[in-house]
Amino acid sequence: VGIFSSLPEVEKDEVFDLLGQFRVDVHPQRVNLGAGVYFSDEGKSWPLEVVGKVEKALHEQQAITRHDYIPIEGDDQFLNAARDLLLSSTFPNPSGRQTSDPRVVSVQTVSGTGANHVAARFLANHVRPRCVWVSDPTWANHHVIWESTGITPRTYPYYNNEDCTLNFTAMIDVLEKESQPGDAILLHACAHNPTGLDPTQEQWVAIAELCSRKQLFPVLDNAYQGFASGDPVQDSWAIRHFYNHQPPMEMCVAQSFSKSFGLYGQRAGAFHLIINDTSESTRGKALGNLAQLIRSEYSVAPRYGSTIVKTILESESLSREWLAELQLMSSRIRSMRQALYDELTRLGTPGSWKHITEQIGMFSYTGLSAAEVEVLRKEYHIYLLSSGRASIAGLNSKNVEYVAAAISSVRN
Ligand code: PMP
Repeated sequence: VGIFSSLPEVEKDEVFDLLGQFRVDVHPQRVNLGAGVYFSDEGKSWPLEVVGKVEKALHEQQAITRHDYIPIEGDDQFLNAARDLLLSSTFPNPSGRQTSDPRVVSVQTVSGTGANHVAARFLANHVRPRCVWVSDPTWANHHVIWESTGITPRTYPYYNNEDCTLNFTAMIDVLEKESQPGDAILLHACAHNPTGLDPTQEQWVAIAELCSRKQLFPVLDNAYQGFASGDPVQDSWAIRHFYNHQPPMEMCVAQSFSKSFGLYGQRAGAFHLIINDTSESTRGKALGNLAQLIRSEYSVAPRYGSTIVKTILESESLSREWLAELQLMSSRIRSMRQALYDELTRLGTPGSWKHITEQIGMFSYTGLSAAEVEVLRKEYHIYLLSSGRASIAGLNSKNVEYVAAAISSVRN
């Protein structure tokens, strides 16, 4: 018996666990609908062409072969470009930079997970919310991250099991009745994970009004900008609405470049704090406290992915190339939604499947039960989360009929 014999058992992360099982499955028709990763129609992970092109150029210029530390707060040019992408109402927009807005304090993070973690730790230290409100369901890691800071997540209703739609009335009802001033609230800026259901603009207006009136501190998690509609400006509408709200609201945004730039393993991300007191002293203290937190956690962020992102975003022509690839990825996902729906309907699969085409972004909350998901995995080698969440990016023209037929036989 040693000190660690009595360590608590922990549940494995389902997404990474499934990925492990998928990797050792040798069945020729195995299908990975588990991980939130974009795959091409050939079923391969897809480094963006513009990313490859920039990487090559940066290597040739020896601009990416320097491995020095970046500043604790992050690379300024990357942060300016990241902030523009988040807050600008046009894109590409080299002339209309908002980088000097004193309300925004930005730091570079270890991708979106790191940004969420910085948000949770920073708010736990300095805002001390009684709890954080998260959607039911939400990305499982939200619970883990916030619990690690000692702040209890509480859930607001989000998903209507009966018809696979957004349960907006119940969401507002619970927040009206049960939230208290000073609570934090986590909102997915677009392409909600796992349900693929976002509020309409009108509903966002009501959510922002509620946050403002009830003095809730919004944390907007922005992990899929551009994946919902193919247009990063449209997908950041909710963030801009909160940012421009009157009266002004203090809030923060966690930004990831994993999906939108296909830079999953490179960990490029940013955390943006929006403050009302823009005095030099308050801005300096906000940045200083964030830097101290970062220093104690990961010291400095990685530089490879962020160098690629800034090079693309700083160039209008490269930005346009990126935009074209973003549209290609999001439209392939949309066409796979349609193909799955058509095939399920053609096969007369019991149940309604309209939600598959109505949901947006990478995921579909299919409505399949945990038992059905298990049969799909064991008998058909199709991997999706036990909640029924399927990553539609794992479908392609060669496997969609197989998947639909499997779902159909599991349902019948
Ligand atoms: N937030 C949400 C809602 C996500 O789905 C993800 C990716 N699964 C992230 C944040 C962060 O991802 P990453 O750390 O790779 O940027």
